[in-house]
Amino acid sequence: MAEVHLRDVAKAFGPTQALDGVELRVEDGEFFCLLGPSGVGKTTLLRTIAGVERPDRGEVWIGGRDVTHLPPAERDVAMVFETYALYPHLTVWENLAYPLRERRVGPIDIKRRVERTAELLGITHTLGRPPQTLSGGEMQRVAVGRAIVREAQVYLFDEPLSHLDAQLREHMRAELKRLHREMGSTLIYATPDQLEAMTMPDRVAVLRAGSVAQCDPPLEVYLRPKRLFVARYVGEPPMNFLDADLDASGKVKTAAFACRTKARDMVAGACLVGVRPEDLTVAPTGRPTPPDAVSFAAEVYAVEMCGDYDLVTLTVGADHMTAIASDHSTRFATGQTVNVSFASERLYVIDPVTERVA
Ligand code: ATP
Repeated sequence: MAEVHLRDVAKAFGPTQALDGVELRVEDGEFFCLLGPSGVGKTTLLRTIAGVERPDRGEVWIGGRDVTHLPPAERDVAMVFETYALYPHLTVWENLAYPLRERRVGPIDIKRRVERTAELLGITHTLGRPPQTLSGGEMQRVAVGRAIVREAQVYLFDEPLSHLDAQLREHMRAELKRLHREMGSTLIYATPDQLEAMTMPDRVAVLRAGSVAQCDPPLEVYLRPKRLFVARYVGEPPMNFLDADLDASGKVKTAAFACRTKARDMVAGACLVGVRPEDLTVAPTGRPTPPDAVSFAAEVYAVEMCGDYDLVTLTVGADHMTAIASDHSTRFATGQTVNVSFASERLYVIDPVTERVA
């Protein structure tokens, strides 16, 4: 069993509280993602699990063992770093064999594992070459290969795709997901890229200032963010927010619309409401909207063509909102007055003090 359990883990570097009471339980065999912007503590958390960093407080458990005071070599974890760190004077074969030689694995086992890893990653054709003759994607696979070539209980990946172009990233996302399925090991993957966090893992922990803001399956994080920070960070283009007033019956009123919400247990008064661009429907004025939809008039501020859809920025009172328009038969022009509608259950209500999302 390679469950990873972090109990109240804290770590400071001088005045910077990099980790601030992290509680996490990663299940055996799970593909688990740490998501958050730069500086929230993702790398520090991975390094703490690996044993390279000692926590000031708290415990790290791996496979049912308290490893908090064990050195990295006794933890049975392998880590892939953001930078490739391949040896330029060695062939790909030798680069892959290196971590095994270091651990005094026998030559027959080395051959078997190097060949199996190369096959898993689709880099068999590169084995005889030095790393500098590889493409970026091949090099990244060798870097991943160097971590997974040895059998470990837990694999830690620190932003392994951050230096790749968009197309290669997309390809590698699918490859890493497949790789994890085939290996069946516990994998903890840190990234600031929400697309990676939405597409690959079983669960995501969204980090904020060294602690866990929300830990759920990706779809749950997207559909039911529990905190304003998560609602803001997850979703591309980001969620729209408007100032509103909430009454005791759960009705909200903004400068543009009023509607009933599911916010029953929130204190009445000033609040924020949020709606995702993909949940807004933009239509020429005069077109009928579904009877139970909330609708209001807005002016088109800008239109960006994004290939598959148009991103329409709307002026709504003193605010701007963005909407995704994917009906190619209707095009919008700057200055045009349009009708905007959405289903009221797709509206999020946020307490501005506690930042809790209803
Ligand atoms: P990124 O995505 O940019 O890698 P991150 O989420 O991985 O960021 P960390 O690298 O864990 O964040 O850093 C968390 C905080 O701790 C940052 O403010 C960083 O500057 C600080 N920090 C990390 N390591 C050290 C160190 N060795 N000395 C001083 N400060 C550090």
